[in-house]
Amino acid sequence: MKIDVLTLFPEMFSALDASLMGKAQQKGLLNIACHNIRDYSLDKHKRCDDYPFGGGAGMVMLPQPIHDAISAVDPQHKALRIFMSPKGRTLTQEMVKQLSTHSHLLLLCGHYEGVDQRVLDMDIDMEISIGDYVLSGGELPAMVLIDSVARYVPNVLGNSEATTEESFSDSLLEYPQYTRPQNFLGVTVPDVLVSGNHQQIERWRKQKALELTQQLRPDLLDKTDK
Ligand code: SAH
Repeated sequence: MKIDVLTLFPEMFSALDASLMGKAQQKGLLNIACHNIRDYSLDKHKRCDDYPFGGGAGMVMLPQPIHDAISAVDPQHKALRIFMSPKGRTLTQEMVKQLSTHSHLLLLCGHYEGVDQRVLDMDIDMEISIGDYVLSGGELPAMVLIDSVARYVPNVLGNSEATTEESFSDSLLEYPQYTRPQNFLGVTVPDVLVSGNHQQIERWRKQKALELTQQLRPDLLDKTDK
């Protein structure tokens, strides 16, 4: 999967060089290219923001550098172009799965008070929010999107089962997990998990997933008939 990121702060994306995302990039499963919007500014001081027409607090990102950056990076509009924005559709696991079927994404990260509306109208396909709170820039939201989507790209996760059994995969939260030692400070793991009976283990996990979801996120159960 190819992901082009347009940002004023490309250095923030070094976080994706670590762990799973780092490995996915090294293996060539994920190709993330960060482009500095400032490089496309035609202003002699490379300015990328200005005061809002009509007044008000903060600065607004200029349309020209963004439009030119998008046109250079995705000249034939082959990518799904996404603007990270608190006004967008809130990201869900369903959307993550759907996005992972695209071979090319372009993520635009806003900063300051936001982006001139005209370039969004001209060049952007959809807006995505990572939740009902405001961050200072779209870089962290873009990294959240990339991480969540990349986990569905084939071979990014070592174990292909990992995305099918985890939280939200069937509108349930995941069952509790345990590892060694069997007895930790006097607390033992549930007997069924060391019974070797896979059917019983499966039933126990399903039951626990249901109980946990009922307790912590009953709203998710409205979406499932399980
Ligand atoms: N003034 C804007 C917020 C600007 S925050 C408003 O009230 O709607 C600056 C930038 O951070 C935004 O342009 C967007 O790219 C990013 N951002 C902030 N919160 C976000 C969120 N919850 N999800 C996705 N992007 C967000």
